Amino acid sequence: MEFRFELALAAHLEATTDWLIARQLGGAVADPGGRIMDLCAVRTTDALGDRAAITSREIPSLAIESDVGAGAAVDWRDAFDCSIEHARSVVDRSIDCGFFEVERHNGRRYVRQTTRYPDWIDSLVGIENKPDLARPGDLDRQLRVDIALGLFDEVILATESYVTRAHLNRLPDSVGVWRFDPDDGERTVVREPTPLSPDEPGIEPTNAEPLRTDIAVVDADAKARKRRRIAERAYGKGWRTYDLPACDHAAPTDDGRPYCEWFDRIVDPATDCGESCPGYEPAESPDVDLRAIRDERSPWVADPDGVSRSQSGLGRFL
Ligand code: SF4
Repeated sequence: MEFRFELALAAHLEATTDWLIARQLGGAVADPGGRIMDLCAVRTTDALGDRAAITSREIPSLAIESDVGAGAAVDWRDAFDCSIEHARSVVDRSIDCGFFEVERHNGRRYVRQTTRYPDWIDSLVGIENKPDLARPGDLDRQLRVDIALGLFDEVILATESYVTRAHLNRLPDSVGVWRFDPDDGERTVVREPTPLSPDEPGIEPTNAEPLRTDIAVVDADAKARKRRRIAERAYGKGWRTYDLPACDHAAPTDDGRPYCEWFDRIVDPATDCGESCPGYEPAESPDVDLRAIRDERSPWVADPDGVSRSQSGLGRFL
């Protein structure tokens, strides 16, 4: 139910806003796997076009944070604050995606940014999906982390349930609430979110037990790095992160969601499809290009010309 709801909301936001939408991204800093945000939306600045021109992929954060600039090329081994193996892998990926270019000096590989990294991230919205408020799961803890940490500019709870005054009273005041119908795509703003303070240090609860909660203080720089990482992941990944079912009953929607004619609903290919499904009829996966759909329907650009002055990809072998 949550997968179907999540995809419907992602498709709705893609169609009705100019936000970049992605699913299931880490939303914590000290314990990165401790909070996974269902939907992350990036509001962008006018520099989005400059970002899109570099690459359709995620630019490695360590490359952006390294001492490799857009001016003189530097020896890559002196430019990273991590192990040499990790730095090498980041450099290779950055050259492959067109963010670094390489030149040789005295037989050594020197790199520089192909262009200055653009200031394209305006703000981040984190959306927690709980289609059925009668089954809130870990909602209390999740929202407590979001509000205390303040990594996102706004946090929203999206639900299909009717939202009562009692529900609202149980939620932190700053959490916005949407009611969303995944069948007809109607979204009602029940309560606007209150902006959080991502530029200030935050407190991350890392371990909650009945009589004890461990916390980590997360400074503003660490939050800024994580926010850029989320935005880059969102840009590279998007929300169509599934393979369409290799089944005769798969009939993707125009926006690329995995609709199944047998069940007459959107299905989760990872858990619903395969030999254990009673309707499964092996076939070629539908001939649908999810990248082309994303390119057409969102600000993301599938095949930018790139900004490298040398041919990217070849550079890594220089
Ligand atoms: S495997 Fe089952 S759920 Fe998946 S598309 Fe086929 S009939 Fe539908």
